Amino acid sequence: MNQEEKKYQELEKTFVTYSDLCTVVDLDKSADREKFVTLPSSGRELIGRYIFLRDMENTITNISVRESVYKKLRFVDRDLKKINPNWQLVVAYGYRSLEIQKKSFSQQKKILQKKYRNTQDLLEAVHRLIAVPQVAGHPTGGAVDVLIFDQEKKAYLDFGTEIGDFETKDVYTDSPFISQTARKNRQALRQAMLTQGFAPYDGEWWHFSYGDKEWAFFYKKEKYLFDQKSTTAVSFVDKYKNLDKKNLNEKAVRIAIQKKGRLTEETLKLFEQAGLEIEQDTRKLFGHCRNFPVELLYVRDDDIPNLVDAGIVDLGIIGENIFLENKSSSQKIMNLHFGYCSLVLAVPNNSPIKTVRDLRGKRVATTYPIMTDDFFKNMGVDVDLVNISGSVEISPLIGYADAIVDLTATGNSLKQNKLVCVQKILDSQAILVGNLDGLHKDKRAIIDKLVLRFNSSLAARKYKYIMMNAPRQILPKIQDLLPGLKSPTIAQLAGLEDWLSIQTVIEEDVFWETVEKLKKLGATGILVLPIEKLIK
Ligand code: ATP
Ligand code: ZN
Repeated sequence: MNQEEKKYQELEKTFVTYSDLCTVVDLDKSADREKFVTLPSSGRELIGRYIFLRDMENTITNISVRESVYKKLRFVDRDLKKINPNWQLVVAYGYRSLEIQKKSFSQQKKILQKKYRNTQDLLEAVHRLIAVPQVAGHPTGGAVDVLIFDQEKKAYLDFGTEIGDFETKDVYTDSPFISQTARKNRQALRQAMLTQGFAPYDGEWWHFSYGDKEWAFFYKKEKYLFDQKSTTAVSFVDKYKNLDKKNLNEKAVRIAIQKKGRLTEETLKLFEQAGLEIEQDTRKLFGHCRNFPVELLYVRDDDIPNLVDAGIVDLGIIGENIFLENKSSSQKIMNLHFGYCSLVLAVPNNSPIKTVRDLRGKRVATTYPIMTDDFFKNMGVDVDLVNISGSVEISPLIGYADAIVDLTATGNSLKQNKLVCVQKILDSQAILVGNLDGLHKDKRAIIDKLVLRFNSSLAARKYKYIMMNAPRQILPKIQDLLPGLKSPTIAQLAGLEDWLSIQTVIEEDVFWETVEKLKKLGATGILVLPIEKLIK
C-alpha cells in the first residue's frame, strides 16, 4: 500500500460508522412533529438547488428540509457573508424520500455483496457510500449537502473536488492532497456549519446534519430529533404550504375532515351534536368554530392520515380502512359509529373460485393494495395484485381481474356488478385519529374535552328518554323491563292513589320491543323523547 492509501485509511477510521449510529435509538417524538419547509431557489441569500443528485427532483421540486434546519442554514449564510459578502450558501441536496434511500441502498448492496462474507462488514462498506436506511440522515429532513457560491465570480468556491464526486477519496474532509485554498474553503464551510449546531460527516466535505442520528452521536445527545419520513408525508408541504399564512389560530386544535364524500354529513352532524358551531368559509377550505378552540380543514379523505402524521393537523376523522391502508403512525382515539362498511374479497357470481385458496396465481384488482397484500400474505396465498384507481368493481366484468377487494356497505354494488363476497377482510367505521405524542398540554386538554363531548353525544344517540303512567301494582314488572341507567324516577300522580308516573332512559336498540311490552302490561300515556347529551 502506498503512502496515499495509508493516509486515506487512517482518515476512514475516524468516520462515524453504521454500528455507531445503531447505538442511537431514542427519538424525541415531540421534536419529530416539526414540519418540513421548501427552500427558496433564487436570490442572493440561502438557496436550494439540486446539483449532483437529481433523484428527488420529480418528487419534490424544491429542496425541502425541517423548519429548524432551514432557520439554521440562514444563519450559516449570514455568517459566511461576514467572511465575504459575495458568498452564498447553496444547499445541493436535502430531504430524500425513504423509498429512494431504500432503493439506492439495496442497489449498492448488490454491487458490494460479492466482496464481503460478513453481513456487518458488508453493511459498513455500503453505508460508507449510501447510508443504511434505518440510520440515514437525508430521509429525516435534517441532513444537507452544502457548498458556497461566489456571487461576484459567478462560480462555486474551490473545494478540491466536485460535490458528490465519489471517484476520488479526496472528498474526505481532511484529505491532505488538495490545494491550500480548497482546504481553507472546506474549513470555512465546516466552521460555519458547526457554529450553528450542525454535525459534520468527515467522509464527505459537503455533508452536514442536524437532528438525525449522526447529529445525536456527534453531540452525544440521548435522543435524536427527527425520524425518517416517506414522500407522501413531505410532499404535503407543497400542497398545504399556504396553510400557515391563513392566519389560523395557533392554539386551536386542527382537525382534518372529508371535504365532500360519504363521511362529510355525519362528521358535521357530530360536531353539531357536540355543541360546536362551525362556520365554513366560502370556498369550504376551512371551518372556524365560534365556541370551541378547534379549526376544521376540509380535504380529500386519502390525505388525512398524512396530514396527521406530518403534524399539519392534530386530529382527523376518516374511515378506519383509510387509516390502516396508510399504515399511519398516529393513533386511533375513538370509534365514531358511522360510515360503517366492510372491505371484502369478491368474485363474479359464476366464477369457479369459491375460497381464498382458489385464487393462487390469479389476478386481484383493488384500490387498497396494502391491506390486500397483507391479507393474502397472512393467508399464505400468492396472487397477482393490481392496484387500480376507481371502478374496481367492473374489472372482473371486463376480464381485467379474477377477483376484487373493495369496500361495500350494503352489498348492493356487488350485486349490481354480479359479484359475490368470498371473504370479509375488515369491518370499518369512521374513527377519530390523532398524533398525540409530544402534543402541547393545552392542546391535549382541548382534545380530552372534545372526546368527552363526542362520547356523550354518541351515547345520547343510543338512548331515549321514556315517560309513562302505570298502575302501582305493575311497578316491579316494569322495573324488570327497564333496567334504565340507574333506577327510574317514580312519582305519584296527583289525586290518583294507585297510579304512578315513571321516567327513565331506554336503549334505542330494544326500544320498540320494550314499548310493546309496556303497553301489554298496562302502561299508558307513553312519551318518548330524544336525549341531547348523556354524560355518564
Ligand atoms: P375523497 O374525494 O374524499 O377522496 P372517496 O371517494 O375516496 O372521497 P368516499 O367514497 O366518500 O371516499 O368514502 C369515504 C369513506 O366512507 C370510505 O373510506 C369508507 O370508510 C366509508 N364508507 C362508508 N360506506 C361506504 C361504501 N358503501 N362504500 C365505500 N366507502 C364507504
Ligand atoms: Zn379518497
